[in-house]
Amino acid sequence: MSGPVRALSGIELDAFRALRVVAGESMPYFLHALFAVSPVAAPGLGTFAVDAHWRLYMDPDLLIGPARWSPVEGGAALLHEVNHLLRDHAERADALPIPRSHIAFNLAGDAEINDDLIAAGVRLPEGVVTPSALGLPDGLLAEQYYAALRKAAEAHPDLLAGMDDGGPGCGSGAGTSAVAGELPAPQIDGNGPGAGVPDGTGGLSAAAAGMVRRAVAVAVQEYGVSKGRGTLPAGLERWAASTLAPSTVAWTRLLRAAVRRAVSAAASRTDYTYLRPSRRRVAGVVLPAMRGRQVRVTIVVDTSASMGAEDLAAAMGEVGGVLRAGQVSRDRVRLLSCDAETGVPQKVASVAAIKLVGGGGTDMRVGIDAAMADRPAPDVVVVLTDGYTPWPGQPIDARLICAVITDGSAQCPQTPSWATTVTIPRLPGRDAA
Ligand SMILES: [Zn+2]
Repeated sequence: MSGPVRALSGIELDAFRALRVVAGESMPYFLHALFAVSPVAAPGLGTFAVDAHWRLYMDPDLLIGPARWSPVEGGAALLHEVNHLLRDHAERADALPIPRSHIAFNLAGDAEINDDLIAAGVRLPEGVVTPSALGLPDGLLAEQYYAALRKAAEAHPDLLAGMDDGGPGCGSGAGTSAVAGELPAPQIDGNGPGAGVPDGTGGLSAAAAGMVRRAVAVAVQEYGVSKGRGTLPAGLERWAASTLAPSTVAWTRLLRAAVRRAVSAAASRTDYTYLRPSRRRVAGVVLPAMRGRQVRVTIVVDTSASMGAEDLAAAMGEVGGVLRAGQVSRDRVRLLSCDAETGVPQKVASVAAIKLVGGGGTDMRVGIDAAMADRPAPDVVVVLTDGYTPWPGQPIDARLICAVITDGSAQCPQTPSWATTVTIPRLPGRDAA
């Protein structure tokens, strides 16, 4: 029986929860992800599948019908689908050259997942896609399996068609075709449902999904440490390491780039605007007067931000490094702490002098106003905040960089479109100072 996708009924939800227990018992470090998916009933689907927004589509016949999957089968299927989401197969498929083969990428993603599930002792149904079933070695990435499959398909054009069972595959969350009737993307950050989406099926925003991945990666690493080497499947260990490593690099790079751009734009802008063309100007020679103006930067720190002193020091280290490299002298950088307790912005001498109080609810507009009221006024304002703040409605007379430290769960006001926003992921489990 097929029909529109819908929320699970009470009895279907109970069956799903029972499968989730089985899945969580065999791979406990995935619990956070197993609880993050939004279960959806997809009558007639014939399998389980996921979309890119962490919805799990399940044929209710496989949950409660006479042909329902056993707890072991269903639990394994849950673990399999959640792995497509954790490994971000949707976005990785998007990065492949066009035209891309949906069927080849579904096989490749399945191969990347299933060798690790088998290594973890999960009993997969017979006939599932494994690297060896594709004639390829274990432990490769989906992109590598995909390339090998495409190459093999060049020599044997019918190869992929022969592997296509005509089924829906694992869904858009696996980087393959969408499930019929797939729900629209969530409208807002967080877990809230969008318009026309049944209750409980709202899915996750990209930011929230990123935070679930990080939390699971931390759990995987902790499991590996507590149980000893060799207890984790190799592919999973590698996934956890790469999930935790590059995002740290990514935000520091983004923050540095944002500050560098703002400083150089502020430096060049003013001189071109205010300098009269000089008669002594010679083509190709930059006269001393044409050098970048001395740029002033004010950094406003939200003391209520849900970050630790370490996070703050790391963020400030990046900003400071760029300013030094851009020859912004120390005396042209001001530090304001936007005090959550008194509501009064205060000039501070160093990051160490800033007392973080945690919690939320500071109005960073007050800090930005204070920064702009100072004379001489800054050319660049960098705000370090947890995002729980209103933002100025109008562009300010300086370049504004909003560095938002977030765990992805918050529904924060939008940063202004005219500002540059850098999102800094807060490490799970690290509490505010
Ligand atoms: Zn799959």
